[in-house]
Amino acid sequence: MRRLPADTGVWLLTAGLAAAAAAATFLWVTRLPGSPLDAPLPWPALLAAFVLAEMCVIHVRVGKEMYSSSLDEIPLVVGLFLVDPVTLLVVRLLGRGAVLLLHRRHRPVKVAFNLAQWSLEAAVVVLLWHGLTAGGQVVGPRGWLAAFTAVLAADLLSAASVSAAIRLSGTGADGGLTWTELWSGTVASAANVCMALVATAVVIVDWRASWTLVVVGALLYLAHRSHGGLRERHDSLERLNRFTERISADLDVRSVAHAVLLEARALVAAERAELVLPDIGVLSCTADMTLQSHGDVTSSLAHRLRGRLLDHAVLVPRGTRDEMARAWLRETSLRDAVVVPLRIDERIIGTLTVADNLGDTGTFSAADAQLLEALANHAAVAVENARLAQRLLAQVVEQQHQARHDPLTGLPNRLGLHERAAALLDEGLPFAVLLVDLDDFKDVNDTLGHAIGDELLVLVAARVRALDLPGLFVSRLGGDEFVLLAQLDGGEQAQRAAEQVHAVLASGFPLDGVTVGVAASIGIALAPRDGTDASSLLRRADIAMYAAKGDGTGSELYSAAIDEHTAERLAMAAELRAALQTGALAVAYQPKVDVVTGRVLGVEALARWSHPLRGYIPPDEFVPVAERTGQIGELTRTVLDRALAQCAAWRSAGLELDMAVNLSPMVLRDEAFESDLAALLARYDVPPQALTLEVTEGSLMADVERTTSMLKRLRKLGVHLSIDDLGTGYSSLAYLKRLPVDEVKLDKSFVLQLATNLDDQAIVRAMVDVGHRLRMRVVAEGVEDVESFALLRALGCDVAQGYWISRPLRGPDVPAWSAAWSSSAAAPGLGHALPAASRVPLSRAG
Ligand code: C2E
Ligand code: CA
Ligand code: CA
Repeated sequence: MRRLPADTGVWLLTAGLAAAAAAATFLWVTRLPGSPLDAPLPWPALLAAFVLAEMCVIHVRVGKEMYSSSLDEIPLVVGLFLVDPVTLLVVRLLGRGAVLLLHRRHRPVKVAFNLAQWSLEAAVVVLLWHGLTAGGQVVGPRGWLAAFTAVLAADLLSAASVSAAIRLSGTGADGGLTWTELWSGTVASAANVCMALVATAVVIVDWRASWTLVVVGALLYLAHRSHGGLRERHDSLERLNRFTERISADLDVRSVAHAVLLEARALVAAERAELVLPDIGVLSCTADMTLQSHGDVTSSLAHRLRGRLLDHAVLVPRGTRDEMARAWLRETSLRDAVVVPLRIDERIIGTLTVADNLGDTGTFSAADAQLLEALANHAAVAVENARLAQRLLAQVVEQQHQARHDPLTGLPNRLGLHERAAALLDEGLPFAVLLVDLDDFKDVNDTLGHAIGDELLVLVAARVRALDLPGLFVSRLGGDEFVLLAQLDGGEQAQRAAEQVHAVLASGFPLDGVTVGVAASIGIALAPRDGTDASSLLRRADIAMYAAKGDGTGSELYSAAIDEHTAERLAMAAELRAALQTGALAVAYQPKVDVVTGRVLGVEALARWSHPLRGYIPPDEFVPVAERTGQIGELTRTVLDRALAQCAAWRSAGLELDMAVNLSPMVLRDEAFESDLAALLARYDVPPQALTLEVTEGSLMADVERTTSMLKRLRKLGVHLSIDDLGTGYSSLAYLKRLPVDEVKLDKSFVLQLATNLDDQAIVRAMVDVGHRLRMRVVAEGVEDVESFALLRALGCDVAQGYWISRPLRGPDVPAWSAAWSSSAAAPGLGHALPAASRVPLSRAG
């Protein structure tokens, strides 16, 4: 069923009531006898009484609700006894109507409804009273009872019509009157009738004594007013407190705002309420109670009033004299309004506006403004708390994300990985852990810079994440280590996945204008085979990764054998420590000779370790262990100490040999090394230029800045520097040129087959050429046969070292060897040692 438009319904009801009132009045009331008593009241006095009663509406609060009650029943009942019925009806309508029209300004529909309803009510009272008292004693119990009955019946009638009107207009939440309301109305009416009966009695006895009634009435009215005011204030505060309690638990700013708007409307009976919170926007609430919002703060009511957030309350009552306020009311088509600031300490965080007072009393009062200010203060705190809570919540979420993610790549970090692995283990599904460690990533960082290094990590992350593997989870452990979890069953599947990883990394990344292929070592562990918790799985994947890296196999599946190998290496670390302490570490010396003259120039010191149980352990095995376990500094110092002692001993015996010592790249990062070296040179009184420090080419690219500065400082001491294993690293010519280096040492892999391999010959020729262009001495190591030696001479190499010349020797054996070599080689000819085939012109290539 379609509802009638609100006003139409009320108009129809009004018409019905008016018709009923007219019918009752003209059909029956006009026929009633005149005043029943012969002590008539002059009608102007009655009119005055009606006007007075209507103006003194008293507000009665019952429970939480407030009701207005009129004293109008007093003159009405007095009139029943003392004036004729028609006069009574007319005077009452005139008196109340005048107040209604002049004193309060209601909408026409409300005025019409009230007039119609009052007319019918009065007609009913008059008819009932006359009916009940017909033919009987008017003054006395019967007349009194009749008065009560008539008034109460009329009350019921008006309650019914008022609630019908409310329902039809659709303004209240529910139109019906409650029993409490009816009951309180009945009590008030009964009290009014009592007063009226007293008044009637007084008038009958001596109407001049009615002034006493006026005095008593006025006193009662004042007492009621002041009590009502206190009560109202108290109730408002209590209501405010309850409201504050309620919203302080709410941590959502918008829902707090909505609650504040609803409360503001209810608190001061306003039709509209609007909240401006500059960082959120304008939130408003009208008759339908829903929250509307928009972002344009300048269009808000409050902003249009003053063009800014207010710092004090502004009351704009109906009919205000303030020109600006009047203009604003016109412009916004509001009837009246109160605007109050939302204040936290001295800070204004918003404004609250209510407008269009709904109350019968007309408009907003100063008390309303005060109440609203109190509400705004509570609201400000609640809004601020909610905001704070929202910020904290956002922070917690963010922190939780941060705690589990790597900021650079956005991938989950170690914690995220552990959580995921634990979850998968809980599910009991088999999965593989692939620990991917990029090879030589440090070189990229050092040569291309950290920014490019980071870029590469991000690209690698994206590429790996895009792999098509079942249930793939990619995390970054930090540095260049990534861990993949995938639901793969068995080592074969996992190995294939590792190959996929290798393939996507090797396919190249565009960096800084060049395409860089990335190699990686991948360790694989299988769950649950290799572990039932995240830590042991990771540890085993790590062991496998190290095995892959060490053996250069690319990827390795964890196995007990690998683990044993690791255990062995760990044992080796402890034994090496003991060897260094007990002096069990020895040094061998391998001679270097001038390629052209054959003269013995010096020796290279090589660390030697003879394990009591395992026998000879090559330095290629124990030097990396020393590097990984922090013993490399001590190892280097031990070798240096021995070598310099040996060098000094030979020198004092008249054998002037240069000494070369290998330097681990890690030692170049050791700030104390420089002074320790100077101290050792001084201690053995070896001239610094007799010492050459060999640094591998690959290591030079790590941490270029620092390495270069350290090399420069060492060079300043007077020692020579040599780049070892040239050809195995990626160093650029431009870079080598900047280094304070005296010598390059071609890696033995280019020399071992030099006699038979044409490629090697081409490479060696080119490297010799480069070395000479950079004004460096060129040394070849790994010379195993005389043909190679002859070729090196032909290619212009300066110095040679290798088994054909001599294997590394014990220190004490060097002088004898040196003497033997010098005599047999018959320097500078050396020709007898060379096969005829290789007697090429011995001119230098440089
Ligand atoms: P390296 O510096 O390249 O040393 C030369 C290596 O080549 C030595 O192996 C030497 O014995 C070997 N060699 C020399 N001539 C020939 C030849 O004609 N044929 C073949 N096949 N090999 C030849 P070694 O002594 O096993 O040392 C291996 C590596 O261990 C060295 O390579 C060096 O990198 C490292 N190392 C040795 N001693 C030390 C040390 O005291 N400190 C550091 N940091 N590293 C050391
Ligand atoms: Ca060396
Ligand atoms: Ca070498």
